[in-house]
Order: sequence, then C-alpha cells, then structure tokens
Amino acid sequence: MKNFTIPNIVLSKCIEHDNCRYDGSKINNDFIKNLKPHVNFVTVCPETSIGLSTPRDTLRLVSKNDTENFNLVFSKTGDDFTEKMHSFSHSFLKSISNSDIHGFILKSRSPSCGIKDVKIYKCHGKSPSLPKRGSGLFASKIYEYFPDVSIEDEGRLTNFNIREHFLTKIFTISDFKNVENSKTIKCLIDFQSKNKYLLMSHSPGYLKKMGKLTANTDSTDISNIIKDYKVYLNKALAIPSKPNRNINMLLHLFGYFSKHLSYSEKAFFLETLEKYNDKKIPFCVPLTIINSWVMRFENEYLHNQTIFEPFPNELIQTRDSGKII
Ligand code: SF4
Repeated sequence: MKNFTIPNIVLSKCIEHDNCRYDGSKINNDFIKNLKPHVNFVTVCPETSIGLSTPRDTLRLVSKNDTENFNLVFSKTGDDFTEKMHSFSHSFLKSISNSDIHGFILKSRSPSCGIKDVKIYKCHGKSPSLPKRGSGLFASKIYEYFPDVSIEDEGRLTNFNIREHFLTKIFTISDFKNVENSKTIKCLIDFQSKNKYLLMSHSPGYLKKMGKLTANTDSTDISNIIKDYKVYLNKALAIPSKPNRNINMLLHLFGYFSKHLSYSEKAFFLETLEKYNDKKIPFCVPLTIINSWVMRFENEYLHNQTIFEPFPNELIQTRDSGKII
C-alpha cells in the first residue's frame, strides 16, 4: 500500500465536528467522515469564535449602498458583527499562514464560511434577498493569506470531478513537502519523474516548464529552484484535467506497450478511448487497462506513477451529485 503525506485541511467546525450551527445542529457528511483518517483537520467556527452563542439568531450579509463590502448582521435586529468578524478572520488566518495548509473545506452558503453563492440582502428584517450572491466574510479573507490553496465547500465536493480534483491537489502538494524538506535536486527530479503523467493530464505546458527547472542540475541555488517549481506546481494543479488532455496522456502511456500487444488488444484500447471521449465510460476504465499492462509487463517506472493513485484509494466515491456547480 502506498504511503501518503498527510495534508492539513482547515474545516468549518460544524461539518462532522461540533454542534455549533445557529440552531445547535451539526452537518453530517460522509465524505468528511471518510477523510478523517487521511488528513489532519484544523477546525474553526468563526461565529462562535467571535463570541456568539449556540443556538443564536440567524446572521445575514447586507450590502449597504449596494457595494461589494458586505456587513454581517443579525437578520432580525441588525446588530452588526462585521468588525469583529474581520478582526477574527485576519488574526486566525495570520496565525496559520506559516503552517503548511493544503486546503480549506467550508460550509456552503454560510454568511461567514460560504465561499460563494451566499445570499445578500439590502437590509435586516423582512426583506427579500438581492439577485446577486457573494462570499462569506471569513471565506473572503482566505485568498489574501492563501492565494494558491484549494478552497472548496461541502456542497461542491458532492460533484465527482471537483472532489477528485481537490483530493489530487491536496495530496500532491502535501507530498511536495518532502522535496522542500530534503532541499536536494535528486528529490525534486524523483518528484517530477513520478508525477510526470499526472501533471501531463493537468497541464502539458507547466510540465514542460517544470522539466526545464529540474534539468538545471548545475545550479547550486536549489532553494530557489524548489520555490519556483512549487509556483508552477500550484498553477498546474489548479487546472482541472480534461478528456482531451487525459487522452493525450493515455496515448503516451499506451506507447510503452503497443509493440507488445496483439492487434485486438490495441483495437480494444483505442475503442475504449473513443468511448471515454464520447463520455460513455469514465476515465478510470482506460486508465485501469493501462495499469493492468504496467503489472503484466512489470514496468517499474510506470508502476511508480502517481496518476494511478493520486490519493488514497479508500477516498474514491463514485457518488456524483451531477450538479454543474
Ligand atoms: S458555517 Fe462556519 S460559522 Fe457557521 S456554524 Fe459552521 S463553522 Fe461556524
């Protein structure tokens, strides 16, 4: 079984951890439950952290003067907690900004934690929400401190592709910590080598740039090379994999075996690729065929490729909300 470096994930505390929602409830979430043994959760509840009790009156975002500067107020009374929330958000995010944080999972639609789609009102009291939507006050500050880190909410993570992308990014970036700790070009080359096909499926352009950096073996300034490499790595992994890039990557892998395969095996694989391209079968089908050849032909180099298991297999859930989020 593969060993993964454990990512640190900041999580809205009301998801699977604490009954701290406005009505004293907790959100049950199977994905977060499954994730618990594989990551280190740093939980936070911004609303109780600014001294609000549980249960409490509901809060809402109000857009005064129709600007994008929202105020956080009690829905009924209009009591304003904007300054308290800003101050808490800055001090909390600053306190963890030098730690290795690999991702955020926040409660959707909350006026504090929601990353988008939070209802905005013109005022407190009885008034309908405005047509526009925004980010919760705490969530909107995260980008200032963690511009490259993956930020998702539990609603978006019900989408299969978004979930796989999030998991791939957090586990790959957290594995990169080993390169940063080692400060050796060998470790960087090994990282690039084992992630080659994973990176190809996200961005062949960045893969090329990263390859150039690792080829710079004469340089003694390894710290700067690793720093530059991480910038590219974050940018590459921010790009979701797409069928055309996946097919290109699978054809590269196919090239390792094609001369050893029978005519019908090759035809079957190419038909499978076509079906994948036509969205009739998922990506894992052609990938599994390739993996079976990796084992059959005992290809040690490909055996170590992270594309075959970018995150722990136990976290694979085929469930898909089907929502285009
Ligand atoms: S959504 Fe955020 S602020 Fe609201 S209860 Fe959950 S953790 Fe606390």
